[in-house]
Amino acid sequence: MTIISTKAMLSKAQREGYAVPAFNIHNLETLQVVVETAAELRSPLIVAGTPGTFSYAGIGNIVAIAGDLSKTWNQPLAIHLDHHEDFDDIAQKVQAGVRSAMIDGSHLPFADNVALVKKVTDYCHRYDVSVEAELGRLGGQEDDLVVDSKDALYTHPQQAREFVALTGIDSLAVAIGTAHGLYTATPKLDFERLAEIRHQVEVPLVLHGASGLSAADIRRAIDLGICKVNVATELKIAFSDALKSYLADHPEASDPRHYMIPAKAAMKEVVRKVIHDCGCEGKL
Ligand SMILES: [Zn+2]
Repeated sequence: MTIISTKAMLSKAQREGYAVPAFNIHNLETLQVVVETAAELRSPLIVAGTPGTFSYAGIGNIVAIAGDLSKTWNQPLAIHLDHHEDFDDIAQKVQAGVRSAMIDGSHLPFADNVALVKKVTDYCHRYDVSVEAELGRLGGQEDDLVVDSKDALYTHPQQAREFVALTGIDSLAVAIGTAHGLYTATPKLDFERLAEIRHQVEVPLVLHGASGLSAADIRRAIDLGICKVNVATELKIAFSDALKSYLADHPEASDPRHYMIPAKAAMKEVVRKVIHDCGCEGKL
């Protein structure tokens, strides 16, 4: 089985003190880049997509392409449902072959978040699907998910302990000052809070909104218990900037087999950098 859950890979990361990157992909080319680069660096790999991505590309297409790339490159990988909010949607994608899900009820009151997450977790565990959930709110924007940064609530350590115990989740996404999208000012992460959450919670912790964080901040977060680092915006920008630049320089270009090459190369550099920052090179 080449499409796997994140359970074993995040446990290993937790034991050995590194993080596994989750790269948001959107199409054939971006899938090719992350699988090829992870394989070259012998890195564990999580391929992530939001509901919007799966609507765009098709769940069957993503599972088929990722599965084929996985075999070709001898690279086990998890296809991860990023920021999914609906039980039926997750169940349908589990039946299509996905083995890693995030159920995001972080916008709900605590009791409702617990109830939704527990329902999803009970279902997913019947199929050996690992489940991530979020407590607290991140700032910024990811697809249609918008939270006013000022109103973003950080994760409460004691409540996190209760949340994990009540839901049975396999990993917890924490809100400690990161935001989705690009940072307009240098983010100040609440590392004391992260240390306290780690003290209260045994499951692997997940950092969303890592695009644009310094390597030092990522390293410190890993040292304090982060085992999965999500990167989306940085990849999209590298890919589309290189594509725009190529097309501006080559207005006659019409062959995607040519104009996609610089876009993929630019994205690959970001993937390499993130794998390096996560300390997961050679950890497959
Ligand atoms: Zn996120």
